[in-house]
Amino acid sequence: MSFVAAQHVLREVFQHDLFRGMQGPVIQRITEHPAGQGHALVLAPTGGGKSLCYQVPALALASRDDRPGITLVISPLIALMKDQVDALRAKGVDATYINSSLSRGEREKCYAGLAAGQFKLVYVTPERFRKPEFREALEKVGVSLLAVDEAHCVSEWGHDFRPDYTRIDAFRELLGNPTTVALTATATPDVQRDIIAQLGLTPGDAPDQVQTFHEGIDRPNLTLEVEEVWDDDGKLEHITQAARGLAPPSDENPQTPKRLTGSGIVYFTLIKTLRDFSERLRAQRIPHLNYHGDLDARQRRDVQDAFMNNQCPLVLATNAFGMGIDKADIRFVVHADLPGSLEAYYQEIGRAGRDGKPSMCRLLYDQRDLATQMEFMRWANPDAEFYQRVFALLEHETDRIHAEGLDWMRTELHAKQGRHDRRLDTALAMLERYGTLAPDSNWREDDHPELRLVGDLAPELLDEERLAQKLQRDQMKLLALVKYANHDGDRKAFLNEYFGIEKTPEA
Ligand code: ADP
Ligand code: MG
Repeated sequence: MSFVAAQHVLREVFQHDLFRGMQGPVIQRITEHPAGQGHALVLAPTGGGKSLCYQVPALALASRDDRPGITLVISPLIALMKDQVDALRAKGVDATYINSSLSRGEREKCYAGLAAGQFKLVYVTPERFRKPEFREALEKVGVSLLAVDEAHCVSEWGHDFRPDYTRIDAFRELLGNPTTVALTATATPDVQRDIIAQLGLTPGDAPDQVQTFHEGIDRPNLTLEVEEVWDDDGKLEHITQAARGLAPPSDENPQTPKRLTGSGIVYFTLIKTLRDFSERLRAQRIPHLNYHGDLDARQRRDVQDAFMNNQCPLVLATNAFGMGIDKADIRFVVHADLPGSLEAYYQEIGRAGRDGKPSMCRLLYDQRDLATQMEFMRWANPDAEFYQRVFALLEHETDRIHAEGLDWMRTELHAKQGRHDRRLDTALAMLERYGTLAPDSNWREDDHPELRLVGDLAPELLDEERLAQKLQRDQMKLLALVKYANHDGDRKAFLNEYFGIEKTPEA
C-alpha cells in the first residue's frame, strides 16, 4: 500500500520510471513499518542514488496520518544542502534548509514555517541541534523520518569525523526515536558497526533494528589503474597524457573556452604541489582550473561553475573539491598523490563516469608520498601530553588566545615544528567532541576565537592506550592503501573485500 504511494512519488515528482539498485527494498522497509521502526543503513557508491532513499519516503509518508511529522535530513555540508533543496523546490517539493548561511530574519521565518508544518523535508547540519529555537520548532511538528546523510561522519575511525554527529543518538531520543535511515558511500565493517551504535540502535533485520543494505562498489564503467612513478616528471607525463585525451593540444589562445565532451579531475594532497603542477601545465599551454582551500568562497564558486558549465574541462583540486559535484561526464580522475585512505580514494573516484560511459581512475603511486601521509597521520593523532598542553593554555591564557589567535597557540605548542602542523586543529576538535570545549567556539572559521572551557580534560584523551589504538587503526588504513597500490590482481575485488562486501558466488 505505502510502497505503491512511493512508486507514485517516484514517477510523478521525480519523473523516474524505476527504482535503482537498493532503492526499492530500502524504501519498502522504511515505509511499510509503523512509526519508529524499519531503520536502515544504506551503503552505495557516490552517485548511486542514495538521496531518493529518504526523499521518496518523505513525500510518501507526508500524506499518512499514522506517521505524522516531517523528514529531517542531517547533512554535513551547507553547500550540499543548498543544491539538494534547490533541486527539490524545482520539482515543487516543500523543502528547506536551516543553517548559518541564512540571515537571522530568514532563519526565524524558517523556524515559524517549520513549526506551522509548512515543510515536508528539512535539511540541517547536526550543529543546528545546539539551538533551542530549532528544537522547540521541531517538537511542534514532530519527525517521522530521520535521515543521516554521509553517516560515516559519526565514526571516530572514519575519515570525515564530525563531533556533533556523535550526538545523534541524543537527538533521536529528543525526537521520540523516529524511524532512522543512515546513508554513506564508504564504510568499512568497523565503521558500519560504529554508525549503528552511535545512532543508539542495534544491527539486524527485525523491525526495531537496523537492516544494512549494501549496493556493492562495482561500477562496471570505471577502470581502476595504478601507475608507479619515480618523480614529479613521471607524474606530469601521466597528467598531460590524460589532459590531452580530453582536449587536443591547442596552439591557439588557451584562454578560448571550448566545449568538450568530457572533463577530468586531478587530485593533489597539498596546495603547494597543486600550484607547482599548475605552473607546469600552463607552460605546456594546457588550460585548467585550480580548486583548493586557499580560495575564498566566491573564487571557489566561480571555479566550480566554470567546471560544471564546461568552460574548462580540467580541474586540479585538493580534496576540498568534489563533495556534491554531480557532473555526468567526468572521463577521468587522476590522483597525483597518494590519498589518505581507501575510503577517501573511493569517494573521490566515485565522481567519475556517472553517465555510465567508460571512465578511467588512475592512481599515481610515488613511494615518497608515503612520508606526507605519515605526517598527516601524526597530526591527526596528538599524544596525551599534547592534549594536556593545549588544555593548560586554554585554562590559563584565554585572553591571550582571543587577542593573538590560534597562530600564537601553535607557536607556543610546537615552536620547532612546521608551521603547517595541524595537531592543534585535531586537539580542538576532540576537546569539543568530548565536551571539554564549548561547542560553539567557532574556531574553524575564526582565527581569534573565544575558546571556552566547559569541562575537565576528558579522560579518553589522556588514555595512552586508547590513543595508541587510534593511531594503529590509522596506520592500518594507510597500509591497506599501499597494499592496494601494489595489488596485481582484481582491484575491484580488493575494494569489495576492504569494505566488507561479500563476493557473489561464481556462476
Ligand atoms: P548519492 O547521494 O548516492 O551520491 P544521488 O542521490 O545524488 O547519489 O543521485 C545521483 C544521481 O542519480 C542523481 O542525478 C539522481 O537524479 C539520479 N537517480 C537517482 N535515482 C534514480 C532512479 N531511480 N532513476 C534514474 N536516476 C536516478
Ligand atoms: Mg548523497
